[in-house]
Amino acid sequence: MSSDSPPVRRLADWDHDRLARLAEEHGTPLYVLDVDRVAANYRRFAAAFPDAHVMYAAKAHTGRAVLSGLLEAGADIECAAAGELQRAIDAGADPNTLQYTAVNPPGGDLDYAVDLADEHPGLTITGGAEDTFDRLEDRGYDGRVAIRINPGIGTGHHEKVATGKDAKFGIPYDEVPALADDLRDRFDLVGLHAHAGSGVLREDLDDHCRAIAKVAELAREVGDSDLEFVDFGGGFGVPYREETEPLDMQAVGERVREAVGDLSARIKLEPGRYVVADAELILTTVNTVKETPATTVVGVDASLATLIRPAMFDSYHPIRNVSAPDRDPHPVSIGGPCCTSADVFATDRPIARPERTDLLAIGNAGAYGYELANQFHSQPRPAEVAIEDGDERVVRRRETMADVVRVEDEAGE
Ligand SMILES: *Cc1c(COP(=O)(O)O)cnc(C)c1O
Repeated sequence: MSSDSPPVRRLADWDHDRLARLAEEHGTPLYVLDVDRVAANYRRFAAAFPDAHVMYAAKAHTGRAVLSGLLEAGADIECAAAGELQRAIDAGADPNTLQYTAVNPPGGDLDYAVDLADEHPGLTITGGAEDTFDRLEDRGYDGRVAIRINPGIGTGHHEKVATGKDAKFGIPYDEVPALADDLRDRFDLVGLHAHAGSGVLREDLDDHCRAIAKVAELAREVGDSDLEFVDFGGGFGVPYREETEPLDMQAVGERVREAVGDLSARIKLEPGRYVVADAELILTTVNTVKETPATTVVGVDASLATLIRPAMFDSYHPIRNVSAPDRDPHPVSIGGPCCTSADVFATDRPIARPERTDLLAIGNAGAYGYELANQFHSQPRPAEVAIEDGDERVVRRRETMADVVRVEDEAGE
């Protein structure tokens, strides 16, 4: 398995002439996805865990171009909703290879998964609440299940907040052995599962490995030789800031294996963000430049409807002036056309001084980017262009106002 792709792709590494041409041809805001980079990220990850089973967590980016590119690269797919199962199957996944992680699952999602498993008994359903298993049994299901564990370890300085929040996910650690005994009589218990963190980088690796070691220990207590797999989830981070170093995946692989220790069940991992984040950017055009006593305000045509992560998670995304990367850096605040102060991509950030009509790129938009795009302010969602084997194709056309009002029109009002 080749893994010679660079561990990180920065905005400066994209072909600026090509980006300018794509913006010209397709308008802005525009998502630009590099499917080859998605596959390379997956291969690098998988190469670091040669004896593990690596599944891509679809919720980071469920675009068909991503899913089919990853299936072609040999990845299996983890889904956290019935809609994601459906889209994985549409993209060509064999339902027998899918895993469905049910989080507070709506009845309709369970119906869908149970029907699917009826014809494709290889499907695995992971439950994180005892009554999820009761609801599966009520539907006549007795197939493959895994228990989602709450390892009870948050990350770093947010531990208190994280633990409270995390109660939503998984069975409390100490209750797992009894539940495992019970489930073995009612289903085919094939695995344990835990998704311990998110955005884990070097400084969080100790905590992450502690959680992994705890889950492995529980697997041995439950009887790992009777399990097919122990799934340690995703959560592997990417450097959003230019000065942050990427994870050394080979070293992470060794650390994880060390934390797991002796285990006869196979290790499973589910990266989402790591696979797609740096494979996509957003192109946006500068609409206005306004000098104020406080700062220079740069208004662009992308907004929190295009990319909500800065508004929702205070996330940092790199921004580059693609039209004039060599201009002198000038501190600017960059925001979109939404009437809320949350619609800001950067504050007092030095950028090659933007002028009206310049093209800017917002980087690392592949994970939870288009996936969380919305129509706030009656804005049609942007188009998405995929680059694959040197070719370009529109994989999501730009929405129109007709798309925005369609559900009202069709309601017959
Ligand atoms: C979200 C999620 C993942 C992927 O998380 P990333 O931080 O994107 O790697 C993996 N497994 C489960 C169950 C998830 O909910």
